[in-house]
Amino acid sequence: MTDLWYSEYHAADVRFSIKVTRQLCSEQTPFQKIDFFESETFGTFFTIDGLVMATQKDEFAYHDMIAHVPFAVHPAVRRVLIIGGGDGGTAREVCRYPGVEHVDLVDIDERVVRLCQQYLPQTASVLDSDPRVHLHFEDGLQFVGRAEEGMYDLVLVDSTDPVGPGEGLFTHAFYQNCHRALTEDGILINQHESPYYPIYAHEMLRAHAKIRATFPIARVYEFHMPTYPSGHWLFGFASKRYDPVADFRPERWNALGLKTRYYNTDLHTAAFALPTYVKELLEHG
Ligand code: SAM
Repeated sequence: MTDLWYSEYHAADVRFSIKVTRQLCSEQTPFQKIDFFESETFGTFFTIDGLVMATQKDEFAYHDMIAHVPFAVHPAVRRVLIIGGGDGGTAREVCRYPGVEHVDLVDIDERVVRLCQQYLPQTASVLDSDPRVHLHFEDGLQFVGRAEEGMYDLVLVDSTDPVGPGEGLFTHAFYQNCHRALTEDGILINQHESPYYPIYAHEMLRAHAKIRATFPIARVYEFHMPTYPSGHWLFGFASKRYDPVADFRPERWNALGLKTRYYNTDLHTAAFALPTYVKELLEHG
C-alpha cells in the first residue's frame, strides 16, 4: 500500500497536501509541467508547475465566480475573450448564456486543453462540443495586442500566476490592450491571487494598481476556494462603464433560471464587501 501525497508550498513554512490515489499523467511541455492526479476528497485534479489549477470537487466555485458576476452586471454580452482557461471550466459557464455568440479562448499551451479533454471532461467537454468556442493556442499578450478595437464585451483572464508564461498577463501593456479590445461598456475580470499570504498579496497589489491606472472602475471581489493558497481568493472587476454593485440587476439574472452551486444574487453584492485587512491592503499597500 503506497502512501502518496501531492504537496505544494503556500508559504515558506506552510504546505498544503492531498492524498493521491493515483497519478494519471505527468508531462513537461515547452511552457510548463502538467500533472494529473486522482484523490478521494477532491476527485481528479491537475497542477501546473506544482500549483493546483483545478479539482473536480471545487472548480465550480472558481468558474461560477469568474463568469456569472460580470454576466449579472452587463445587460448583453455577445462576444467573449478568455485568456488562459485551457481546462474549459470558464468557457463552460460562459456558454450557458444563450445571448453569447462568439467565444475566443486563447491558451498558450495546447497540452492543457488536450489533457483536460482526456482526464477532466467535466470542465473541458464544451471545448469541442459548442461551435461558439474558438480555440487559439498562443500567448494571450500577443493575441490581445492584435485584437481589433471594441471587439469584446467581456474579457476573462483565467491565467496561471505571474511567473513563467503567465507573467505577461499581469503587465500594463496587457491591461491596456484589454481596455482597447473591449467595447465602451466592456468588462474585464482577472484572477487576482490571494490577499492572505504576502507573496500572493504582493502580486495582487501590483496587478490591481495597473488595472486601476487603466480602467475608471476597478473593484475586487472575493470567494472561497479550498485548494488555493489560504482558501481565500480574489478576482478583479474592471470596466469602462459599469459598477459591479450599482449596475447589478439581480432580477434580470434570476430570470435566466440558471442553476449554480456557488454563485447567487445575494452573494454577488456580498462578494464585493471585503474584510478590513483586504481593504487596507488595497488602499495603502
Ligand atoms: N484557475 C487557475 C488558477 O487560478 O490557478 C488557472 C487555470 S489554468 C487552465 C491557466 C492557464 O493559463 C493554463 O492553461 C496556462 O497554459 C495558461 N496560460 C499561462 N500563461 C499564458 C499566456 N501568456 N497566454 C495564454 N495562456 C496562458
